[in-house]
Amino acid sequence: MAAKRDYYDVLGVSRDASDADVKKAFRRLARELHPDVNPEAEAGERFREAAEAYEVLSDSETRARYDRYGHAGMAGTQFHTEQFMDFSSLSDLLGAFFGDDIFSGGRRARPRGGDAAATIELSLADAAFGATREVGVDLITACERCEGTGAEPGTQPTACPECGGSGRVQHVAQTAFGQFVQASPCAVCGGRGVRIESPCQDCRGRGRLSVRKSVEVQVPPGIASGQRLRLAGRGHEGEGGAGDLYVHVTVAPDPRFERDGNDLVTVLDLPFTRAALGTTVTVETLEGPYEIEVKPGTQPGEVIVLRARGIPVLGGRGRGDHRIVVGVMIPRKLTDEQRAQLRGFERGVDDATYSSDESFLGRLRAAFR
Ligand SMILES: [Zn+2]
Ligand SMILES: [Zn+2]
Repeated sequence: MAAKRDYYDVLGVSRDASDADVKKAFRRLARELHPDVNPEAEAGERFREAAEAYEVLSDSETRARYDRYGHAGMAGTQFHTEQFMDFSSLSDLLGAFFGDDIFSGGRRARPRGGDAAATIELSLADAAFGATREVGVDLITACERCEGTGAEPGTQPTACPECGGSGRVQHVAQTAFGQFVQASPCAVCGGRGVRIESPCQDCRGRGRLSVRKSVEVQVPPGIASGQRLRLAGRGHEGEGGAGDLYVHVTVAPDPRFERDGNDLVTVLDLPFTRAALGTTVTVETLEGPYEIEVKPGTQPGEVIVLRARGIPVLGGRGRGDHRIVVGVMIPRKLTDEQRAQLRGFERGVDDATYSSDESFLGRLRAAFR
Protein backbone atom coordinates (compact mmCIF):
# COMPACT_ATOMS: atom_id res chain seq x y z
CA MET A 1 0.00 0.00 0.00
CA ALA A 2 1.26 3.44 -0.87
CA ALA A 3 2.24 5.64 2.04
CA LYS A 4 -0.52 7.96 3.13
CA ARG A 5 -0.02 11.42 1.69
CA ASP A 6 0.36 14.39 3.94
CA TYR A 7 -3.01 16.07 4.47
CA TYR A 8 -1.61 19.52 3.74
CA ASP A 9 -0.17 18.21 0.46
CA VAL A 10 -3.49 16.61 -0.40
CA LEU A 11 -5.30 19.90 -0.04
CA GLY A 12 -2.39 21.84 -1.48
CA VAL A 13 -2.13 24.26 1.41
CA SER A 14 0.77 25.28 3.63
CA ARG A 15 1.06 24.10 7.23
CA ASP A 16 0.09 27.51 8.51
CA ALA A 17 -2.99 27.80 6.27
CA SER A 18 -5.98 29.46 7.88
CA ASP A 19 -9.30 27.68 8.33
CA ALA A 20 -10.63 29.70 5.44
CA ASP A 21 -7.74 28.55 3.22
CA VAL A 22 -8.40 24.92 4.16
CA LYS A 23 -12.04 25.30 3.34
CA LYS A 24 -11.32 27.03 0.06
CA ALA A 25 -8.86 24.34 -0.95
CA PHE A 26 -11.32 21.56 -0.25
CA ARG A 27 -14.08 23.35 -2.09
CA ARG A 28 -11.87 23.68 -5.13
CA LEU A 29 -10.99 19.98 -5.04
CA ALA A 30 -14.62 18.98 -4.49
CA ARG A 31 -15.68 20.84 -7.58
CA GLU A 32 -12.97 19.11 -9.54
CA LEU A 33 -13.18 15.58 -8.17
CA HIS A 34 -16.72 14.92 -6.97
CA PRO A 35 -18.25 11.89 -8.75
CA ASP A 36 -20.97 14.22 -10.01
CA VAL A 37 -18.57 16.05 -12.26
CA ASN A 38 -15.70 13.59 -12.60
CA PRO A 39 -16.69 9.99 -13.33
CA GLU A 40 -13.14 8.61 -13.28
CA ALA A 41 -12.46 6.06 -10.53
CA GLU A 42 -9.19 7.77 -9.70
CA ALA A 43 -11.03 11.03 -9.10
CA GLY A 44 -13.33 9.26 -6.64
CA GLU A 45 -10.30 8.04 -4.70
CA ARG A 46 -8.74 11.48 -4.68
CA PHE A 47 -12.04 12.95 -3.57
CA ARG A 48 -12.13 10.57 -0.59
CA GLU A 49 -8.55 11.50 0.24
CA ALA A 50 -9.38 15.21 0.10
CA ALA A 51 -12.49 14.72 2.23
CA GLU A 52 -10.44 12.92 4.88
CA ALA A 53 -7.80 15.62 4.85
CA TYR A 54 -10.47 18.27 5.16
CA GLU A 55 -12.11 16.40 8.02
CA VAL A 56 -8.88 16.39 9.98
CA LEU A 57 -7.64 19.88 9.15
CA SER A 58 -10.97 21.68 9.48
CA ASP A 59 -11.21 20.82 13.16
CA SER A 60 -8.69 22.60 15.40
CA GLU A 61 -8.43 19.69 17.82
CA THR A 62 -7.75 16.96 15.23
CA ARG A 63 -5.54 19.35 13.28
CA ALA A 64 -3.37 19.98 16.37
CA ARG A 65 -3.10 16.23 16.96
CA TYR A 66 -2.12 15.67 13.32
CA ASP A 67 0.45 18.47 13.44
CA ARG A 68 2.12 16.82 16.45
CA TYR A 69 1.94 13.14 15.64
CA GLY A 70 1.20 12.97 11.91
CA HIS A 71 -0.89 10.08 10.62
CA ALA A 72 0.02 8.04 13.70
CA GLY A 73 -1.96 10.52 15.78
CA MET A 74 -5.04 9.70 13.75
CA ALA A 75 -5.00 5.99 14.57
CA GLY A 76 -8.44 4.74 15.50
CA THR A 77 -10.16 7.81 14.07
CA GLN A 78 -13.43 7.10 12.28
CA PHE A 79 -13.52 9.19 9.15
CA HIS A 80 -16.72 10.31 7.56
CA THR A 81 -15.70 10.49 3.95
CA GLU A 82 -18.70 8.37 2.96
CA GLN A 83 -20.93 11.17 4.16
CA PHE A 84 -19.36 13.38 1.56
CA MET A 85 -19.93 10.79 -1.12
CA ASP A 86 -23.51 10.32 0.03
CA PHE A 87 -24.57 13.77 -0.96
CA SER A 88 -26.77 13.14 -3.91
CA SER A 89 -25.00 15.79 -5.90
CA LEU A 90 -22.09 18.10 -5.81
CA SER A 91 -24.42 21.09 -5.57
CA ASP A 92 -25.99 19.56 -2.45
CA LEU A 93 -22.56 19.03 -0.96
CA LEU A 94 -21.33 22.51 -1.68
CA GLY A 95 -24.67 23.94 -0.62
CA ALA A 96 -24.40 22.13 2.71
CA PHE A 97 -20.84 23.22 3.42
CA PHE A 98 -20.44 26.55 1.77
CA GLY A 99 -23.93 27.80 1.05
CA ASP A 100 -23.21 27.50 -2.65
CA ASP A 101 -25.84 26.78 -5.16
CA ILE A 102 -23.72 26.57 -8.20
CA PHE A 103 -25.94 24.62 -10.56
CA SER A 104 -29.55 25.31 -9.93
CA GLY A 105 -29.47 29.02 -9.22
CA GLY A 106 -31.47 28.69 -6.05
CA ARG A 107 -34.29 26.31 -6.83
CA ARG A 108 -34.31 22.78 -7.92
CA ALA A 109 -35.41 22.20 -11.53
CA ARG A 110 -39.16 21.76 -11.61
CA PRO A 111 -40.28 18.46 -13.09
CA ARG A 112 -41.35 18.19 -16.69
CA GLY A 113 -44.67 16.51 -17.44
CA GLY A 114 -44.75 12.88 -18.48
CA ASP A 115 -44.94 11.54 -22.02
CA ALA A 116 -48.33 10.51 -23.39
CA ALA A 117 -49.28 8.01 -26.08
CA ALA A 118 -51.99 7.74 -28.71
CA THR A 119 -52.74 5.53 -31.69
CA ILE A 120 -54.08 6.38 -35.13
CA GLU A 121 -55.11 4.11 -37.97
CA LEU A 122 -54.70 5.33 -41.53
CA SER A 123 -55.75 4.09 -44.93
CA LEU A 124 -52.93 3.21 -47.29
CA ALA A 125 -53.64 6.32 -49.39
CA ASP A 126 -53.45 8.57 -46.31
CA ALA A 127 -50.21 6.88 -45.26
CA ALA A 128 -48.86 7.46 -48.76
CA PHE A 129 -49.79 11.08 -49.17
CA GLY A 130 -49.88 12.26 -45.57
CA ALA A 131 -52.89 13.27 -43.55
CA THR A 132 -54.04 15.45 -40.71
CA ARG A 133 -55.93 13.67 -37.96
CA GLU A 134 -57.52 14.67 -34.72
CA VAL A 135 -56.67 12.22 -31.99
CA GLY A 136 -58.33 12.11 -28.57
CA VAL A 137 -55.94 11.70 -25.67
CA ASP A 138 -56.25 12.07 -21.90
CA LEU A 139 -53.69 14.64 -20.81
CA ILE A 140 -52.75 15.97 -17.42
CA THR A 141 -53.18 19.70 -17.71
CA ALA A 142 -53.38 22.80 -15.54
CA CYS A 143 -56.82 23.10 -13.97
CA GLU A 144 -58.80 25.90 -15.62
CA ARG A 145 -61.05 26.57 -12.65
CA CYS A 146 -58.19 27.49 -10.32
CA GLU A 147 -55.66 28.34 -13.06
CA GLY A 148 -53.34 25.71 -11.66
CA THR A 149 -53.13 27.15 -8.17
CA GLY A 150 -55.25 24.42 -6.57
CA ALA A 151 -57.19 27.02 -4.59
CA GLU A 152 -60.91 27.54 -5.06
CA PRO A 153 -61.52 30.73 -7.08
CA GLY A 154 -61.79 33.69 -4.72
CA THR A 155 -59.37 32.18 -2.23
CA GLN A 156 -55.61 32.34 -2.17
CA PRO A 157 -53.09 29.68 -1.33
CA THR A 158 -50.97 30.65 1.64
CA ALA A 159 -47.36 29.88 2.28
CA CYS A 160 -46.78 26.38 3.62
CA PRO A 161 -46.15 26.76 7.37
CA GLU A 162 -43.72 23.87 7.38
CA CYS A 163 -41.28 25.23 4.82
CA GLY A 164 -42.30 28.87 4.85
CA GLY A 165 -43.15 28.72 1.18
CA SER A 166 -39.73 27.67 -0.07
CA GLY A 167 -40.83 24.10 -0.80
CA ARG A 168 -37.65 22.86 0.84
CA VAL A 169 -36.94 21.96 4.40
CA GLN A 170 -33.51 22.05 5.93
CA HIS A 171 -32.21 19.37 8.22
CA VAL A 172 -29.38 20.06 10.56
CA ALA A 173 -27.03 17.13 10.52
CA GLN A 174 -24.48 16.55 13.25
CA THR A 175 -21.20 15.23 12.01
CA ALA A 176 -17.59 15.10 13.01
CA PHE A 177 -17.05 18.47 11.36
CA GLY A 178 -19.86 20.08 13.22
CA GLN A 179 -23.30 20.94 12.02
CA PHE A 180 -24.31 21.40 8.51
CA VAL A 181 -27.55 21.89 6.76
CA GLN A 182 -29.04 19.67 4.16
CA ALA A 183 -32.19 20.56 2.27
CA SER A 184 -34.89 18.26 0.89
CA PRO A 185 -38.36 18.78 -0.58
CA CYS A 186 -41.00 19.65 1.99
CA ALA A 187 -43.15 16.61 2.77
CA VAL A 188 -46.11 18.68 3.91
CA CYS A 189 -46.65 20.62 0.69
CA GLY A 190 -44.86 18.21 -1.64
CA GLY A 191 -42.33 20.89 -2.53
CA ARG A 192 -44.92 23.33 -3.89
CA GLY A 193 -44.43 25.74 -0.98
CA VAL A 194 -48.13 26.52 -0.58
CA ARG A 195 -50.97 25.52 1.70
CA ILE A 196 -54.42 25.38 0.20
CA GLU A 197 -57.18 25.96 2.70
CA SER A 198 -60.10 25.81 0.26
CA PRO A 199 -59.15 23.28 -2.38
CA CYS A 200 -60.46 23.81 -5.90
CA GLN A 201 -63.56 21.69 -6.49
CA ASP A 202 -62.45 20.52 -9.91
CA CYS A 203 -58.93 19.36 -9.15
CA ARG A 204 -59.24 18.93 -5.35
CA GLY A 205 -56.28 21.19 -4.76
CA ARG A 206 -53.85 19.47 -7.05
CA GLY A 207 -53.87 22.29 -9.56
CA ARG A 208 -53.83 19.80 -12.41
CA LEU A 209 -56.25 17.25 -13.73
CA SER A 210 -56.67 14.80 -16.55
CA VAL A 211 -58.65 16.16 -19.48
CA ARG A 212 -59.67 14.53 -22.73
CA LYS A 213 -58.06 16.62 -25.41
CA SER A 214 -58.19 16.59 -29.15
CA VAL A 215 -54.73 16.88 -30.64
CA GLU A 216 -54.10 17.56 -34.31
CA VAL A 217 -51.56 15.17 -35.74
CA GLN A 218 -49.83 15.88 -39.06
CA VAL A 219 -48.80 12.57 -40.57
CA PRO A 220 -45.99 13.00 -43.10
CA PRO A 221 -46.27 11.26 -46.48
CA GLY A 222 -44.76 7.79 -46.73
CA ILE A 223 -45.29 6.53 -43.20
CA ALA A 224 -45.53 2.77 -42.65
CA SER A 225 -47.46 0.66 -40.17
CA GLY A 226 -45.70 0.40 -36.80
CA GLN A 227 -43.90 3.73 -37.02
CA ARG A 228 -44.21 6.32 -34.30
CA LEU A 229 -44.51 10.08 -34.44
CA ARG A 230 -43.23 12.25 -31.62
CA LEU A 231 -45.00 15.52 -30.91
CA ALA A 232 -42.61 17.41 -28.69
CA GLY A 233 -44.24 19.27 -25.82
CA ARG A 234 -47.72 17.87 -26.49
CA GLY A 235 -47.76 15.34 -23.64
CA HIS A 236 -48.76 15.77 -20.01
CA GLU A 237 -48.20 19.22 -18.56
CA GLY A 238 -45.83 19.57 -15.64
CA GLU A 239 -44.53 22.52 -13.67
CA GLY A 240 -41.40 22.57 -15.80
CA GLY A 241 -43.16 22.17 -19.15
CA ALA A 242 -45.02 19.46 -21.01
CA GLY A 243 -43.77 16.00 -21.92
CA ASP A 244 -44.00 14.57 -25.43
CA LEU A 245 -46.87 12.85 -27.18
CA TYR A 246 -46.01 9.68 -29.04
CA VAL A 247 -48.45 8.70 -31.78
CA HIS A 248 -48.30 5.11 -32.88
CA VAL A 249 -49.38 4.69 -36.50
CA THR A 250 -51.04 1.62 -37.96
CA VAL A 251 -51.91 1.42 -41.64
CA ALA A 252 -55.00 -0.59 -42.55
CA PRO A 253 -54.41 -3.21 -45.23
CA ASP A 254 -55.80 -2.19 -48.63
CA PRO A 255 -57.37 -5.08 -50.57
CA ARG A 256 -56.28 -3.48 -53.84
CA PHE A 257 -52.59 -3.07 -53.13
CA GLU A 258 -49.76 -4.99 -51.59
CA ARG A 259 -47.04 -2.76 -50.12
CA ASP A 260 -43.42 -3.74 -50.63
CA GLY A 261 -41.33 -1.05 -48.96
CA ASN A 262 -42.14 2.05 -50.97
CA ASP A 263 -43.39 0.04 -53.93
CA LEU A 264 -46.94 -1.09 -54.52
CA VAL A 265 -47.71 -4.42 -56.14
CA THR A 266 -51.00 -5.32 -57.80
CA VAL A 267 -52.16 -8.16 -60.04
CA LEU A 268 -53.84 -7.67 -63.40
CA ASP A 269 -55.73 -10.70 -64.73
CA LEU A 270 -56.09 -10.66 -68.50
CA PRO A 271 -58.00 -13.07 -70.75
CA PHE A 272 -55.46 -15.11 -72.73
CA THR A 273 -56.74 -13.62 -75.98
CA ARG A 274 -56.11 -10.05 -74.82
CA ALA A 275 -52.68 -10.95 -73.44
CA ALA A 276 -51.89 -12.43 -76.85
CA LEU A 277 -53.38 -9.60 -78.93
CA GLY A 278 -52.43 -6.67 -76.71
CA THR A 279 -54.93 -4.30 -75.20
CA THR A 280 -55.55 -1.13 -73.24
CA VAL A 281 -56.84 -1.56 -69.69
CA THR A 282 -57.68 0.72 -66.80
CA VAL A 283 -55.97 -0.22 -63.54
CA GLU A 284 -56.50 1.05 -60.01
CA THR A 285 -53.61 3.14 -58.69
CA LEU A 286 -53.20 5.12 -55.47
CA GLU A 287 -54.39 8.20 -57.33
CA GLY A 288 -57.35 6.45 -58.90
CA PRO A 289 -57.98 4.79 -62.28
CA TYR A 290 -55.08 4.85 -64.73
CA GLU A 291 -54.97 3.59 -68.29
CA ILE A 292 -52.11 1.35 -69.35
CA GLU A 293 -51.04 -0.32 -72.58
CA VAL A 294 -50.56 -4.08 -72.57
CA LYS A 295 -48.24 -5.17 -75.38
CA PRO A 296 -49.21 -8.06 -77.66
CA GLY A 297 -47.69 -11.32 -76.42
CA THR A 298 -47.62 -10.28 -72.75
CA GLN A 299 -46.77 -13.33 -70.65
CA PRO A 300 -48.17 -14.55 -67.29
CA GLY A 301 -46.02 -13.10 -64.48
CA GLU A 302 -44.76 -10.29 -66.65
CA VAL A 303 -44.43 -7.02 -64.72
CA ILE A 304 -45.62 -3.68 -65.95
CA VAL A 305 -43.87 -0.94 -63.95
CA LEU A 306 -45.50 2.42 -63.36
CA ARG A 307 -42.50 4.49 -62.32
CA ALA A 308 -42.87 6.78 -59.28
CA ARG A 309 -46.50 5.85 -58.70
CA GLY A 310 -45.86 4.04 -55.42
CA ILE A 311 -45.40 5.40 -51.89
CA PRO A 312 -43.45 8.64 -51.36
CA VAL A 313 -40.17 8.27 -49.52
CA LEU A 314 -40.75 9.25 -45.87
CA GLY A 315 -38.96 12.48 -45.11
CA GLY A 316 -37.21 12.36 -48.46
CA ARG A 317 -37.63 12.87 -52.15
CA GLY A 318 -39.16 10.69 -54.81
CA ARG A 319 -41.58 7.81 -54.76
CA GLY A 320 -41.51 4.07 -55.13
CA ASP A 321 -42.94 2.30 -58.18
CA HIS A 322 -46.27 0.66 -58.78
CA ARG A 323 -45.61 -2.83 -60.17
CA ILE A 324 -48.41 -4.64 -61.97
CA VAL A 325 -48.01 -8.38 -62.22
CA VAL A 326 -49.91 -9.79 -65.19
CA GLY A 327 -51.96 -12.92 -64.73
CA VAL A 328 -53.40 -14.68 -67.77
CA MET A 329 -56.82 -16.27 -67.58
CA ILE A 330 -57.33 -19.51 -69.44
CA PRO A 331 -60.95 -20.40 -70.28
CA ARG A 332 -62.47 -23.17 -68.15
CA LYS A 333 -65.58 -23.73 -70.19
CA LEU A 334 -65.70 -23.63 -74.00
CA THR A 335 -68.62 -23.92 -76.37
CA ASP A 336 -68.32 -26.38 -79.24
CA GLU A 337 -67.73 -23.48 -81.56
CA GLN A 338 -64.93 -21.97 -79.43
CA ARG A 339 -63.30 -25.37 -79.15
CA ALA A 340 -63.37 -25.67 -82.93
CA GLN A 341 -61.85 -22.20 -83.27
CA LEU A 342 -59.00 -23.04 -80.90
CA ARG A 343 -58.34 -26.29 -82.76
CA GLY A 344 -58.16 -24.26 -85.92
CA PHE A 345 -55.71 -21.89 -84.25
CA GLU A 346 -53.62 -24.76 -82.98
CA ARG A 347 -53.18 -26.14 -86.44
CA GLY A 348 -51.47 -22.90 -87.45
CA VAL A 349 -48.98 -22.90 -84.56
CA ASP A 350 -45.30 -23.14 -85.50
CA ASP A 351 -41.92 -22.83 -83.68
CA ALA A 352 -42.08 -19.02 -83.60
CA THR A 353 -45.55 -18.83 -82.02
CA TYR A 354 -44.48 -19.47 -78.40
CA SER A 355 -40.79 -18.58 -78.59
CA SER A 356 -39.54 -16.95 -75.41
CA ASP A 357 -36.28 -15.67 -73.99
CA GLU A 358 -37.42 -15.63 -70.39
CA SER A 359 -38.86 -18.22 -68.02
CA PHE A 360 -42.04 -17.74 -65.99
CA LEU A 361 -40.03 -17.95 -62.78
CA GLY A 362 -37.67 -15.27 -64.06
CA ARG A 363 -40.60 -12.95 -64.59
CA LEU A 364 -41.99 -13.65 -61.11
CA ARG A 365 -38.60 -12.88 -59.60
CA ALA A 366 -38.59 -9.58 -61.41
CA ALA A 367 -41.92 -8.76 -59.78
CA PHE A 368 -40.57 -9.31 -56.25
CA ARG A 369 -36.98 -8.23 -56.62
ZN1 LIG B 1 -58.36 23.44 -9.80
ZN1 LIG C 1 -43.96 23.03 2.60
